[in-house]
Amino acid sequence: MNETNLQIRLARRPEGAPQPGDFSLVETAPPDMAPGEVLVRHRYLSLDPYMRGRMDDAKSYAAAVGLGEVMQGQSVGQVVASTVPGFAPGDWVLGGQGWQRLSAVPAGGLLKLDPEAAPLTAWLGVLGMPGTTAWVGTTRIAVPRPGETFVVSAASGAVGSVAGQIAKRMGARVVGIAGGPEKCAFVTDTLGFDDGVDHRAEDFPARLAAACPEGIDVYFENVGGAVQHAVWPLLRDFGRVAFCGMVAEYNTRPPAPGPSLMQVVRKRLSLRGFIVMDHPDAFAEWRRTGARWLREGALQYREDVVQGLEKAPDAFLGLLGGKNFGKLIVAID
Ligand code: NDP
Repeated sequence: MNETNLQIRLARRPEGAPQPGDFSLVETAPPDMAPGEVLVRHRYLSLDPYMRGRMDDAKSYAAAVGLGEVMQGQSVGQVVASTVPGFAPGDWVLGGQGWQRLSAVPAGGLLKLDPEAAPLTAWLGVLGMPGTTAWVGTTRIAVPRPGETFVVSAASGAVGSVAGQIAKRMGARVVGIAGGPEKCAFVTDTLGFDDGVDHRAEDFPARLAAACPEGIDVYFENVGGAVQHAVWPLLRDFGRVAFCGMVAEYNTRPPAPGPSLMQVVRKRLSLRGFIVMDHPDAFAEWRRTGARWLREGALQYREDVVQGLEKAPDAFLGLLGGKNFGKLIVAID
């Protein structure tokens, strides 16, 4: 093959927002194809927010791109030559060979595509990883019920646009948050969401509150930052949040103060608040279990008993300052 390969490599780790100099464009010889491999000419490359994370040398759910390595990413391409039965020149394939024109790939890393089934680029977006992300978030992570208010940020984007449409099909009232009037019109007029709210508007929090008069039952989080701040107070009791991503914070250096909720995404954390009074059946259950363990000597406890009702205020202030040691009790007389 006399065609050269063209690659975009990570030249430098970005500080904050990536700069053009963080990438290098390299022309190289075409890859050699080993037995079991397929030579692919990539036609369409997917660019996704997760790639920003791969540019950092930080512990995450996926390995970082090494300095000098080809940037990672999925692409749709066409087979040029093949050593593998079932892959013939001209076949369309989906694979993760990164930001480059040509690659020699083990056939196991490729998914053969039917070009008649859907437009080729759809396999990178609506039918690909982002569409699947929307499907998982709405059907497995934070599931909307009919009549509930479902809010999604980055609503006109690859994930948000699909998440909102699935939630709509599930019977929810769907409000999309997007940047600018054009994107907001798209989410209502084209995607069929019930409302679109512009997060760039000065009175965005008030507009969001007006669009969600009953509050928010399910929030599909794609953005973080100021959008999250506006959503948070509107969440209803027993609301659910699917933490999908926080693209507004990917370039923030140093990180904003406070715990980074992006850890919820990276470590797939489940956070669930609860109030014991919502579980009235648990009281009798625990009385039975705890009393038995006490009798058996299997449960230890300590009490801090203050004598005299008049000591109650002081003892209470001490409790808030950590002065008590064990369950604080006032012996009244
Ligand atoms: P999009 O195509 O939606 O592109 C990103 C969009 O985010 C922008 O167009 C912009 O939309 C919005 N945005 C960017 N910066 C800001 C900001 N500072 N404030 C508010 N909005 C901002 O991306 P995807 O649909 O591919 O991804 C959406 C999210 O899903 C990302 O956070 C991504 O990391 C996450 N993701 C998570 C996956 C997972 O497995 N957990 C898998 C795939 C994606 P607008 O102008 O409307 O604000």
